[in-house]
Amino acid sequence: MTEITRFAPSPTGRLHLGHAYSALFAHREAGPSGTFLVRIEDIDATRCRDEFVSGILEDLRWLGLSWPEPMMRQSARMPDYLRALKTLKLQGLLYPCFCSRAEIAAEIAASAGAPQGPDGPLYPGTCRALSWDAASDRLADGEPHAWRLNLARALTAAPPLAWIDRDQGPQTATPDIFGDVILARRDTPASYHLAVTLDDAAQGVTCVTRADDLRPATHLHRLLQHLLGLPTPEYRFHPLLADPTGKRLAKRDNAPSLADLRASGKSREEVFEMIGWKG
Ligand code: GLU
Repeated sequence: MTEITRFAPSPTGRLHLGHAYSALFAHREAGPSGTFLVRIEDIDATRCRDEFVSGILEDLRWLGLSWPEPMMRQSARMPDYLRALKTLKLQGLLYPCFCSRAEIAAEIAASAGAPQGPDGPLYPGTCRALSWDAASDRLADGEPHAWRLNLARALTAAPPLAWIDRDQGPQTATPDIFGDVILARRDTPASYHLAVTLDDAAQGVTCVTRADDLRPATHLHRLLQHLLGLPTPEYRFHPLLADPTGKRLAKRDNAPSLADLRASGKSREEVFEMIGWKG
């Protein structure tokens, strides 16, 4: 089997050292006979900009990476995301959620000890309790809404779900840690979790590589693979890069971008040294 890996940046800014490590890691995992892909994760039209796409590609080439064209761009995949949502709706696994962030926060604040998931407090399930008639009326009125997974229902018919973590061995999915996640946001017919799961399958990715802060997301992605009849790739995670004070490099305020470092005269080898990359 040919190994296929991918680096999937969101074009909301230029690449930083943490991204460089992640891209090199995915490229190395593909191996000399595998394929390394670049996918542009631009479902968030308000934050993504085309100029960052060209800047990111320039940064990746400077790191010495190459990839097949054309690249997949999530913004061109909306019909595929809609089709998957329809499949889930037909199984009765989604419900519309009309809650604003403020309403959810107020409800969580009012209920002591709300359960926490990997992405924050779990949704309290307010709109899951709406009758279909009530929800249909609000949909017909054009009220803004997201679509959430009815997790309890999705799990009732699910067999035990497993995957291989290349460092930690066989894993068993416990997707309930996420609660009723959003699979389609108000502004776009997809969410991070839905889009990446579908895209990795569509691209035949054999090993998903990510920073290990995203390891828990695999529990949910494994469930989505099951519900949508998608293959399960293997997974490999790398530690987040941190500066000497322990702050994440990719997210640190004012952390220099690769473009800044290049402009200040740093060579590729010096950047490799900064991130401890030995190839
Ligand atoms: N697009 C996401 C980001 O830039 C990560 C992609 C993924 O590995 O899921 O943070």
